[in-house]
Amino acid sequence: MQAQYEDRQTGRAIAVRLTFLDQWLVIEREDGRELDRWSWRDVAPIPGDFPDGRMRVGLAADAHAVLALDDPDILLRRAHAAGMQQPAQREHRVRRDLPLPVWLVGAVLSLVLLVQFVIPAMAGMLAPLVPASWQARIGDQVQTIAATLLTRKDGNAQCAAPGGVAALKKLAGRLGPMAGTARLHVIDSDLPNAFALPGGHVSVTTALMDRADGPDAILGVIGHELGHLHHGHSMERVMRYSLSSALISMVVGDIGGGALAVGVSQMVESDFSQDQERQADAFAIDVLAQARVSPLPLARLFETIRTEHPEADGALVEWMGSHPTLSERINTLQRAAGGQTAGAVLEEGEWRALRDICRKPEGN
Ligand SMILES: [Zn+2]
Repeated sequence: MQAQYEDRQTGRAIAVRLTFLDQWLVIEREDGRELDRWSWRDVAPIPGDFPDGRMRVGLAADAHAVLALDDPDILLRRAHAAGMQQPAQREHRVRRDLPLPVWLVGAVLSLVLLVQFVIPAMAGMLAPLVPASWQARIGDQVQTIAATLLTRKDGNAQCAAPGGVAALKKLAGRLGPMAGTARLHVIDSDLPNAFALPGGHVSVTTALMDRADGPDAILGVIGHELGHLHHGHSMERVMRYSLSSALISMVVGDIGGGALAVGVSQMVESDFSQDQERQADAFAIDVLAQARVSPLPLARLFETIRTEHPEADGALVEWMGSHPTLSERINTLQRAAGGQTAGAVLEEGEWRALRDICRKPEGN
């Protein structure tokens, strides 16, 4: 019987004849030369709809070659006549006995279980094993992509106005050695957000600075993000999302750049676990206390966001309130409030310069 042998590596399709010999399905060219030989027991239908409407069979879902069949029933009848069992067909029947929705629900459930529970656990174990130099390199890459994705249309991709850079340095200096090797970035974005990435990257968006009533609140934000870095949450999250999106793109198929973009934006926008947020808040409170900066401006920034997005209290993304609820976090900060900030964190002009760090130089 005739079929088409499709070599998936070269993309070539060869017209072939199929015969059975013992347990083998023998695939011959039209001139009679043997091209391939498959163990019939291992031949199974390749799932999916093909544009030409023909059924494909192969040795496995990722077989190097598949057979396109005009009439699969002929193949099965021939196999039967040759005394072959038909495990491939039997498996196929078993699957059909369960209604399709059951299969779909089962598949989706196992994917959800993997993404929700197995991968986070794996990421938690694996993240500490990644050498620091690799972490930094991964963080650098994700930082570049995240900054590009979050920068608003017509925004400045390089927020580096000299006055603003100086103000940012002074801000980090206030944290002293606690800021460690942190690399601070401002992103010209309409989304109020802040995040940390491996390699010491801490980013704050202009939209978040616009909602702060002063530099003390931004120092609190930076302290919180340093907490995520200190506890290794950022690397864990990068791994979690890399593993999840790798898994999802394997299941959904190769969706290329789109999937990557979605993965990265999830990576910087999605929430950490409750405990991780509490740890980062506790770290921020410590850092602020040592810098003798009041945590109240940070609490007020949270309040502003809660007023703007009341629906976000206890849901949604990091700085628009993740769990633990924004209200709980505000309470924690207020309870920790250690009075007044000692000495201005930034002078009025410096704070203005920081907020204008994304302003493009005159003449552009
Ligand atoms: Zn956080």
